[in-house]
Amino acid sequence: MNFYDSERMTDLLKPHGYELDNSAEDADLIVLNTCHIREKAVEKTFSELGRIRNQINLREEKTGKKSIVAVAGCVAQAQGKEIMKRSPWVDIVVGPQSYQTLPDLIAKIDPIKKNKNINIDFPTIPKFDQLENQIFNRGPSAFLTIQEGCDKFCTFCVVPYTRGAEYSRPIKSIVDEAKKLIDSGAKEITLLGQNVNAWSAKSSDKDDWGLGKLINELAKIDNLQSIRYTTSHPLDMDLELLEAHRDIKKLMPYLHLPVQSGSDKILKLMNRKHTSLEYMKVIEKVRYYKPDIAISGDFIIGFPGETDKDHQATIGLIKEIKYSQAYSFKYSIRPGTPAGSFDDHVDENLKKLRLQEVQELLRVQQMQFNKKCINSNLKVLVLRNGKKNGQYLGRTPYNQSIYFNSEHKDLIGSMVTIQVTDAFQNSLTGNVKDNKSI
Ligand code: SAH
Ligand code: SF4
Repeated sequence: MNFYDSERMTDLLKPHGYELDNSAEDADLIVLNTCHIREKAVEKTFSELGRIRNQINLREEKTGKKSIVAVAGCVAQAQGKEIMKRSPWVDIVVGPQSYQTLPDLIAKIDPIKKNKNINIDFPTIPKFDQLENQIFNRGPSAFLTIQEGCDKFCTFCVVPYTRGAEYSRPIKSIVDEAKKLIDSGAKEITLLGQNVNAWSAKSSDKDDWGLGKLINELAKIDNLQSIRYTTSHPLDMDLELLEAHRDIKKLMPYLHLPVQSGSDKILKLMNRKHTSLEYMKVIEKVRYYKPDIAISGDFIIGFPGETDKDHQATIGLIKEIKYSQAYSFKYSIRPGTPAGSFDDHVDENLKKLRLQEVQELLRVQQMQFNKKCINSNLKVLVLRNGKKNGQYLGRTPYNQSIYFNSEHKDLIGSMVTIQVTDAFQNSLTGNVKDNKSI
């Protein structure tokens, strides 16, 4: 989501004369877009700010030009005043729900007085209604935020506090943005939300739409070839969405469905509102509707109160599900969240050992999933050139990276059928199946 927000900020600033520069060395404006979801977010922000400060001082010495520095994102939202206090040379602090005001905040800076501008409001007019509607090239694969915030209040999670209450964008604004992305060259769109499958809206004829209907509508856009969505919550996998997986060819066979733990005791303490069996039932249903679907997930290891037995329940669940790939993290206290004050915090070393065990198992499963793809023919979206001459990098329907060679000069953005020749931990290799398909 931060990638998406950064892209929108870039779009927003373009009409004001700014061009994206990937190096901060000679930048007139530096925007540090921060994430607060896991440990050390604040420390990371301040250490990055230290680096930026050296850079802008050096630039000023060399060229006499002052850079403007803005801190955006969820750390800005949660720690805005602290940032201004500890780094008084920062010019702007702007939260994730108010970055549409960035051009105004920049315009208000007085280069002599170097006044501070801070906006960490949750505005009553949603930011999407106020964002510039120009979209600039994103390459073959683009993100599109359709839902933000969360009302579920898992006890470990900072999202409801930093991103605010659950909000779904209206259908028209999503479809318009999708069309613009396609016009600007995108072939694939990944719909984003903290709970993307909780998205809902009223259609023009007052029907209630869920994510399944929205995907169906987006699939009608001609040059849109591939649709994905992330991140989903197990309780919001409704029938419409399952049917979309069965019926809509453009919807990729990949589902990221976090469970966090395999222990019902821990799930309860986490306030996840589902048991491990309910989660497994959801996966069973999804696989009934889309048998070849690749399943991914998230795990929090060492949540307060987690015993060896709870940990083994997580291992058992992973063995049962067989993930194509998944993310796992040590539990870390997030400021202001209930779990921070729970008893029985797990020793850091023990968390580390348990995390290693989970990650080893997930690695084996990922390798098994990748190996199963050898010899199959996959429709691959070509994303960019690889490092070697004549090499391309693409994405398979199951969200794997795949490398292949071709003499064609211009394959980026095409869909090419690739026969998989080999499988590795994090990628596949293959050959173009049929040159006529290019
Ligand atoms: N809405 C999604 C998750 C969004 S947060 C869901 O409900 O599953 C992204 C991931 O960060 C989470 O799935 C979780 O695994 C991880 N995470 C969030 N808070 C965390 C914390 N305090 N410690 C460790 N991992 C955390
Ligand atoms: Fe955080 Fe997801 Fe729980 Fe919402 S549902 S509080 S985003 S983990």
